[in-house]
Amino acid sequence: MSLSALPTLSEPLMIGWLYPKLMSTYGDRGNVTCLQRRCEWRGIPVRIQALDRDTDPSQFTQVDLIVGGGAQDRQQEIVMRDLQGAKAAALKGAIEVGVPGVFTCGAPQLLGHYYEPGLGQRIQGLGVLDLVTVHPGPDAPRCIGNLVLEVTAERLARELRLMLGDVPYLIGFENHGGRTKLGSVEPLARVVRGLGNNGEDQTEGAFHCNAIATYSHGPLLPKNPFLADWMIQTAIARRTGESCALNRLDDSLADRARSVMLQRLNVG
Ligand code: GLN
Repeated sequence: MSLSALPTLSEPLMIGWLYPKLMSTYGDRGNVTCLQRRCEWRGIPVRIQALDRDTDPSQFTQVDLIVGGGAQDRQQEIVMRDLQGAKAAALKGAIEVGVPGVFTCGAPQLLGHYYEPGLGQRIQGLGVLDLVTVHPGPDAPRCIGNLVLEVTAERLARELRLMLGDVPYLIGFENHGGRTKLGSVEPLARVVRGLGNNGEDQTEGAFHCNAIATYSHGPLLPKNPFLADWMIQTAIARRTGESCALNRLDDSLADRARSVMLQRLNVG
């Protein structure tokens, strides 16, 4: 595949940020900042659009990238009550047509069929991802700690390998009570260190169209900047109809942090 130089965009890339006030636990807003800065450093025009309770559903269809963070059970329920009808259809539609997105912890639980909290009623999800999540109850231990993952979702793994020339390991941090079981959706990754979707089957997250669902906070993108670049590259390709190569940025600090973490966790 030949890659062309970065095209000039007439309109800024729009990052849709799902419910910023309700869904941004454990620094997940860092994913938004990372996408924004990596665009700006390359001269790619970019804007952030909050997708929340006051947003008109039509805005949900105007985005080039989507970020959804984690939430506590109570906030998750508020979001689910709002994310119905036209908004739900627009978000589903955006994911299905291939808008790249990163959805962390509580966000993928909402994109699945349902989430059963430790206390209280089952919360119905959007059913975009074929997965269900059940919290085993307030006395069950939470899944907390550092994560190392090897991306196994076929197309994503292939494209990341091409970018990196190496095995695509992701580093992150998980903190969740819910245990997720996948149906027919492809897992994002294999757990190398940590617990992942449920602590049992070594799967982590899910990958559907260009949506990355994960339990990995961290936040994920600044810890794994190549994944942010994959999202930006995919968004530009969708907009222009052409694959493009992004110029490299100085990621030496992130690279050093990654090697320290991999060493500390005895990986590689
Ligand atoms: N409420 C969810 C759980 O505990 C999500 C938590 C989170 O997003 N960090 O499983």
